[in-house]
Amino acid sequence: MDSIFEYMQRYDFENLFFCQDKALDFKAVIAIHDTTLGPATGGCRMWQDYPSERDAVEDALRLARGMTYKYAAAGVNLGGGKAVIIGDPKRTDREPIFRALGKFINRLGGKYITGEDVGTTLQDMEYIRMETEHVVTLPTYLGGAGDIAPMTALGTIRAMQACCNRIYGSDSLDGKHVAVQGLGAVGHNMIELLHELGARLTVTDIDPAKVEAMTARFGASAVEPDAIYDVDCDIFCPCALGKVINDDSLKRLKCKIICGSANNQLAEEHHGDQLEKMGLVYAPDYIANAGGTIYDTDRLGVGGVSHERGKARVTRIYDNMQRVFDIADRDQLPTYQAADRMAEERIRQIAEVKKYTDGF
Ligand code: NAD
Repeated sequence: MDSIFEYMQRYDFENLFFCQDKALDFKAVIAIHDTTLGPATGGCRMWQDYPSERDAVEDALRLARGMTYKYAAAGVNLGGGKAVIIGDPKRTDREPIFRALGKFINRLGGKYITGEDVGTTLQDMEYIRMETEHVVTLPTYLGGAGDIAPMTALGTIRAMQACCNRIYGSDSLDGKHVAVQGLGAVGHNMIELLHELGARLTVTDIDPAKVEAMTARFGASAVEPDAIYDVDCDIFCPCALGKVINDDSLKRLKCKIICGSANNQLAEEHHGDQLEKMGLVYAPDYIANAGGTIYDTDRLGVGGVSHERGKARVTRIYDNMQRVFDIADRDQLPTYQAADRMAEERIRQIAEVKKYTDGF
């Protein structure tokens, strides 16, 4: 196994910060991957089931690098970072923990901006905000974007339309059969939009009440959770779990397009190669699901909060997806690799632009 520094060198990380307070039983790491495009931004995860501290550190580093690619590919001027608090996400004494993290983040002078992630809540972000302004995913009454799931859904729809254009020669979702896995915050917004656009829907969730609500409201058909992979459809839309594109599902999927909001859809990278060989169009997850974070961080740029501008930027996920296809065709790559290349090219080009200083 690499040492931490070898790992950081391999993927070109900038910084890793360790934060602790014994009296508060607080331990956290903040990883900063790349700040070429702007301050390192990415949520704060709270998790305790790491086999070792080393695994927690690696998780922070890996997630931070993922954020660099997500922002770069989305055309956002932010870099990639992530914080991990090693601790029980159900811990009830949250105020001191998150205010402590806020203090540490403030020391970084804006080089790292945090937000909500697995195991943390909007309330936790409010605690962080008491100590630092470098936090996103805030409620609207604190100047944040509030619930970003509708924008994640909108962005995913835009990626889906670009995929349809590639396969069917038209953006239209009218009459397309979409199988949606997961009817939570993003999934139920997806259903509303897909219904408006005339799609035929098959849905599933492990929560029968959510399924019932969608079938009653939108006339969607329902299947048992595991049967979603066998649905004969145009588009499979994973909005629940990661690793759903795996050895088992690849034998069963009967769709032409895979486009959903779930993070880390490919169980392993080679599954992305397999999709390509099978002639399926795969919308890389971090391209399709960037809408929420594009909208949420839009206010950090010029001119503060603007719903119209934020939404307009989310709709451009269509163009990002199209650009991924262009690179895939140009360099003969599967889409998941083309997305990475698109991100890397942008970082390289903007680094070139940044070498010019203002004035002579
Ligand atoms: P959520 O927790 O609100 O919804 C997930 C839903 O999936 C729940 O209804 C849950 O019951 C269901 N589910 C869990 N296991 C399932 C299974 N085996 N089969 C069918 N359904 C199952 O989460 P969310 O915010 O809607 O996010 C969905 C996915 O999109 C996650 O992977 C998340 O990381 C990703 N994502 C979300 C956002 C956002 O804005 N919320 C942004 C980017 C990515």
